[in-house]
Amino acid sequence: MMRTLVIVDVQNDFMPDGPLSVPKADEIVPIINDIQKHYDLIVATQDWHPKEHLSFASNHSGKKPFDIIDLFGIEQVLWPDHCVQNTIGSQLHPDLHTDRVEAMIRKGMDPRIDSYSAFFDNGRKKRTGLAGYLRDRGVKEVHFCGLASDICVYHTIMDAVFEGFEATLLEFASRPLDREDLEKKKVEMERPGVRIVGTLSEFYIP
Ligand SMILES: [Zn+2]
Repeated sequence: MMRTLVIVDVQNDFMPDGPLSVPKADEIVPIINDIQKHYDLIVATQDWHPKEHLSFASNHSGKKPFDIIDLFGIEQVLWPDHCVQNTIGSQLHPDLHTDRVEAMIRKGMDPRIDSYSAFFDNGRKKRTGLAGYLRDRGVKEVHFCGLASDICVYHTIMDAVFEGFEATLLEFASRPLDREDLEKKKVEMERPGVRIVGTLSEFYIP
C-alpha cells in the first residue's frame, strides 16, 4: 500500500499574520512535520495566483473582500489579495519540512477561474494532473491535511472521491477559516464515505 499524504496550501498568506489568515494556521506546521514519517509519498499544493486574478476583490471596482459575485457563471467569493506568484506570501511556511515532498501541485493560475481543489478548477473544466500522478504512483487511498479545511482541503477531498480515491481528512493537521462552516462540510464529506480523523490520538496508519 502506498501511504500518501497531500499537504494543502500551507502558505504564508494563510498564516495568522497574513492577509487571508486562517485562525491558528501555524499550529499545524509542527504536526504535519511530525506525521510525514508515516507516509511513503508526500505531495504538497500551492495556491498560485497572478496578481490580476479575478478572485481578488481588488480587481473589481466597488467590491470588497468576502463579497460574492458571479464570475463567468460560477459563484465566487472575493478574497483579499493572497498567494500572488513569486511573493513571500505564496511560499510554503518556512518551517514546513519539504525534503520528502515529491510533487508540488500549483493551482489558481488562470485569472478567470478560481481553484479551491488541487484536482480541478472550480468549474471542473481543467484537471491539474494530480489524479493521474497519484494513479501512476499506485495510490488508492489519500490522507489530506492543511488549509483551510472548510475550503481548499474540503474541495480537494470531494474531488479525490470524485476521482475514485479513498479519502481521509486529518482534522488535527488542518485548520478551518470558519469553524461552523467546517462542521457542515464534515457532514458533506462523510456522506460519500470520507474518513475524518479528529485528533492525533485517533491517528493510526496500519
Ligand atoms: Zn486563492
